[in-house]
Amino acid sequence: MNTLLLKDNEKDINKAADILRNGGLVGLPTETVYGLAADALNGKAVAKIFEAKGRPMDNPLIVHIANFGDIIKHRLVNEIPKMLFLLADEFWPGPLTVIMKKSDIIPDEVSAGLSTVAIRFPSHPVAQRVIKAAGVPLAAPSANLSGSPSPTTAKHVMNDLGGKIDAVIDGGACEVGLESTVITLATDVPRVLRPGGITVEQLREVLGILQVDDAVVHKLKDNEVAASPGMKYKHYAPKANVILLKCHDDEYIEYVNSRANNGVSALCCDEDIRLLNVRTYSLGKRNDYTAHAQNLFDMLRKIDDDGVSTTVYSRLPSVNGVGLAVYNRLIRAAGFEVIDLEKD
Ligand code: AMP
Ligand code: MG
Repeated sequence: MNTLLLKDNEKDINKAADILRNGGLVGLPTETVYGLAADALNGKAVAKIFEAKGRPMDNPLIVHIANFGDIIKHRLVNEIPKMLFLLADEFWPGPLTVIMKKSDIIPDEVSAGLSTVAIRFPSHPVAQRVIKAAGVPLAAPSANLSGSPSPTTAKHVMNDLGGKIDAVIDGGACEVGLESTVITLATDVPRVLRPGGITVEQLREVLGILQVDDAVVHKLKDNEVAASPGMKYKHYAPKANVILLKCHDDEYIEYVNSRANNGVSALCCDEDIRLLNVRTYSLGKRNDYTAHAQNLFDMLRKIDDDGVSTTVYSRLPSVNGVGLAVYNRLIRAAGFEVIDLEKD
């Protein structure tokens, strides 16, 4: 299949909408990462997403809307939880996905057999225009091959899915750079299942009560069931072995420099670059967690593209603010491997 590279003008957006209405797949920009969209109410179209990405069939998809009223218009749920109004007022449109009890309209392919559905109202103008032009909600996971870092540019999408999907709309680089925060309102107490651009601190301020799922920072045990199926898979892994170091800044430099050789690289901060004797991939200024989120996937892909690293050392990220989202992705990229230098 020839994958069309579309622009974000009116004509191309209408073309993308046509493809979607006819059951095709389109890669499109959102403020989090690029999504691979299909008509969420067409089970056959949604099934193609799993095939193109090589995504396990038990990992449900997020349904994207372009208006709060779309939830009612398309009858995506039978009842709107009260807390959704609070969350939507504060964070929609934006990088927050909310899980609720689903209606029968949601195809099994979208919810992967669960009784719930994940809904998000993205703020990216191109995503909004495509959803509106298509006239249907769009199921869209990240537009990468399953297991590789999520795409933050149209080029990443082409590299992973070119030839397997109908089109990609180029809308430039994504602003947040990490996938949306996922919160469930289908439990007694609202609970964060995946951290993202909207932080735990922001959600707690609006809701008052909030839990954070164990799987956000810990590895699930073999017999544990993931509240969010996506959390159980090894995600975002570059080919090189990523190792996280829990240590002070000077220890990090010393540890990495003492292991310097051709295959060793550092995923680090701007301030480290002149101190390190190995190849460096910087996430930005040391305390700028927003920049770290924006740059993480791009740097993981660069490490693969350069193809010279066998081991990549990074500091264990902070768990505060957007830092928690970076932590959650990086610890999975590292297969939960952390060396604790503070213990010695
Ligand atoms: P992606 O679209 O690739 O960012 O992945 C969507 C994430 O949301 C995955 O981690 C899914 O497991 C999670 N998710 C989607 N729908 C649900 C649901 N109904 N219940 C729990 N997690 C969900
Ligand atoms: Mg994904």
